[in-house]
Amino acid sequence: MKTVVVEVSARHIHLSQKDLVKLFGKGFQLSKFKDISQPGEFAAKESLVVKGARDYFPKVRIVGPVRKKTQVELSMTDCYFLGIKPVLQLSGQVRKASQVTLQGPRGQVLAQAIVAQRHLHISREQAKAWKYKTGKKIAIIVKGERAAILDNIIVRVGDYKTHVHLDTDEANAVGLAHNQKVYIYEK
Ligand SMILES: [Zn+2]
Repeated sequence: MKTVVVEVSARHIHLSQKDLVKLFGKGFQLSKFKDISQPGEFAAKESLVVKGARDYFPKVRIVGPVRKKTQVELSMTDCYFLGIKPVLQLSGQVRKASQVTLQGPRGQVLAQAIVAQRHLHISREQAKAWKYKTGKKIAIIVKGERAAILDNIIVRVGDYKTHVHLDTDEANAVGLAHNQKVYIYEK
């Protein structure tokens, strides 16, 4: 059986250069707290306040480097807590999203918030071996006390390490911890 490692993503923020300046001031650069698994990406030392219609999170981690567009990635539970509508969407594609306010030390901006659609990052090499293409949907089998099959995992082929990305709600619901191994369900 094919296996793959799951990574669990907690709520985080991607920032554009323009918004970075508005929030932190001119010339500011993010500093690295630690590398994360996808090549070039890092958890920054900096965090922001994320405000919704009803409540707020005082410290949400920024993931660098800067991107083209600012995007906040939350779990559904986070959205209900903040008082915003959860909008499920693939990361990087913000068509219809909910709005939150980001507050930094030097200013605030409005930002789009999504619940990331669960996905599989797969290296080009591995994708070739498994005959996977970007956009394909796969399912994984989770074993254990909260055993489940998670379907509709979108494949993204690229310069990645091969990992399934779930959010905290999804992982907690099926009792999965960060870096745990699961099986690919062969339909
Ligand atoms: Zn991902």
